[in-house]
Amino acid sequence: MTYRADNARYDPMQYRRSGRSGLKLPVVSLGLWQNFGGTRDYPSAMEILGYAFDQGITHFDLANNYGPPAGSSEELFGHVLARDFRPYRDEMIISTKAGYNMWPGPYGEWGSRKYVLASLDQSLKRMGLDYVDIFYSHRFDPDTPLEETMGALAHAVRTGKALYVGISSYPEKETREAHRILKEMGVATTIHQPSYSVLNRWIENDRTIEACGELGIGVIAFSPLAQGVLSGKYSSGNTNGTRGDNPSGTLRASHIEPRVLAAVDKLGEIARDRGQSLVQLALAWVLRRPEMTSALIGVRTLEQLKDNLGVLDNLELSAEEVAAIDEATKD
Ligand code: NDP
Repeated sequence: MTYRADNARYDPMQYRRSGRSGLKLPVVSLGLWQNFGGTRDYPSAMEILGYAFDQGITHFDLANNYGPPAGSSEELFGHVLARDFRPYRDEMIISTKAGYNMWPGPYGEWGSRKYVLASLDQSLKRMGLDYVDIFYSHRFDPDTPLEETMGALAHAVRTGKALYVGISSYPEKETREAHRILKEMGVATTIHQPSYSVLNRWIENDRTIEACGELGIGVIAFSPLAQGVLSGKYSSGNTNGTRGDNPSGTLRASHIEPRVLAAVDKLGEIARDRGQSLVQLALAWVLRRPEMTSALIGVRTLEQLKDNLGVLDNLELSAEEVAAIDEATKD
């Protein structure tokens, strides 16, 4: 049966403007990095994606290399668009990125114009789209002039293949540079996508987040749950089927060393006092800053998505709670 969106889909969600742009994003966005690749069956993917849209999650984040295998998340999302989501295309913000290794040879990764624009064309083809809403440079390339990479993003906008552009994981200095170069080309830097969580505060430490606020760039935090560590499940030991269970996966031993798990346990107590799950506390913490546009989560199951969306019931953190969270994570 073809999917039909819930008429009440905009009621549960809150939306925030991305920096000083006209674009609003849901405070919780959904990424398709690891859980929507080639091994995911269509009905279970659609169950999660349809539920997300029914709850007001209008933003779906992809990249050329998401899978596994690389490219398969975009292919899956292309099927979802063709079979179920097509009537709602104008209600959706679909993003993709280029920067990581995608095909062999010198033109298959990083930030050259050659790679970035070829990759965008491939992404559009895989998803069956004429344009994406946001196109990102996935990582700063120290060996390519930033003018060239930003020029490729500006070209994507001018040719109508992207409505907005963004940068991902760019440090503070390069963020300012990218913004300046794009501005000279008449293109806004609409959004920055860095990793950010209560356990990973690099954008505060190097002041990237302040730069974004100052320059009017929105911020969408990836891995706000530290890839699931901030659910508390690695303390409980019940980790069958999880990301940490995969020896070749992206969760490394350092992510779950005893020092980290001790902090997570303390955070769990703060969450309990608030009547919230730990993931909800972690998402509320990421969203507490005014620069923050959205928390970009990943989910493997529908239950995880429902749990995470519970954050909408209590987004406010008191100064005392923020201080207690800082104390719990200071080591
Ligand atoms: P999260 O920190 O939200 O981690 C998601 C994982 O946490 C899930 O796959 C699941 O793992 C676990 N999880 C989520 N909710 C719960 C819950 N309620 N209870 C228990 N476990 C839970 O984000 P991701 O690291 O997945 O990143 C999110 C998105 O950010 C990606 O899909 C992608 O779009 C983007 N991203 C961007 C990057 C970039 O370079 N720009 C890099 C990485 C991600 P499990 O399978 O163990 O259950």
